[in-house]
Amino acid sequence: MAKKGRVFSGARPTGRQHLGNYLGAIKNYVALQEDYDCVYCIVDYHALTTMETTQNLKENTLQMALDWLAAGMDPRRSIIFIQSHVPELANLHTVLSMVAPLGKLTDLPTFKEKVREQPHNVNYGLVGYPVLMSADILLYKADTVPVGEDQAPHIEFAREMARSFNYRFGANVLIEPQMKATEFPRVLGTDGERKMSKSLNNHIEISSSPEETQKRVMTMVTDPARKLRSDPGNPDVCNVYSMHKMFSSREEIDMVNVECRRAGIGCVDCKKLLAKNMNHYFEPFRGKRAELSQHPEQIWDILDDGANRARAIASQTMQEVRAAIGLP
Ligand code: SF4
Repeated sequence: MAKKGRVFSGARPTGRQHLGNYLGAIKNYVALQEDYDCVYCIVDYHALTTMETTQNLKENTLQMALDWLAAGMDPRRSIIFIQSHVPELANLHTVLSMVAPLGKLTDLPTFKEKVREQPHNVNYGLVGYPVLMSADILLYKADTVPVGEDQAPHIEFAREMARSFNYRFGANVLIEPQMKATEFPRVLGTDGERKMSKSLNNHIEISSSPEETQKRVMTMVTDPARKLRSDPGNPDVCNVYSMHKMFSSREEIDMVNVECRRAGIGCVDCKKLLAKNMNHYFEPFRGKRAELSQHPEQIWDILDDGANRARAIASQTMQEVRAAIGLP
């Protein structure tokens, strides 16, 4: 069946993935493979812009790739690779940096936020982050980029890069990518307040054992107004209920919704049910992951093969770019 187009998306190598990564990105990556040619990239260069140490970079890359593959990202259907394994990316990044307006880059809210977060390390890579991201998308001639609202300015920037390049060099080489507005559910951490994140230690890893998963679920903050088992609760303000909506059956969701409000179910039982359903949901994934992790060399081979396939597209694009510019 003809595909609708080519998707590009990338994620930093953050090691074992948590529920926020899964529900916010991986699940969608898997689904997109049905309708699109997908190019999925582990963006290790991007990680360097904020990294204090590179000690775990390789291991984190492997662990993330294991999660991706075990979750159903399929290297036979998609190109899955490591960003820095395609040298053409650096070439296009250099070219695009000549048409990227510096004022616009330093005005982007994401840059200002990073300056606030790491004033001791405002490196060139941080300013050029959207240029590198544009190079990622444009190099593989992706016409579709799934994004949440917060990434929209970066895709707009990539579109502008394609237009500026094509206009300046009188060619129609780079494709303006379209945003595929995607609903990325905002997955809260076990604290029930902040976005799930490893650095906040409020995360639940999808590859955790059933016991560890249950342990983490039992620490989840519930409706803060419900102090006693006999108090009625409000599922609408409870993160446990939000998670039930992702992992439990319709009947169970309805039951929790009703019983919580009349104190018919306690938070402990409610969480145990959630943990059971989560563990059931991730059982096939964990089995597959355990199998794959027996042969890490095969994971590196898959990533190498992905890089070779990515390079075939990238070198063609760079030939066209060089010809359009008139580089000797
Ligand atoms: Fe949350 Fe469940 Fe407790 Fe209600 S019973 S407050 S939904 S954990």
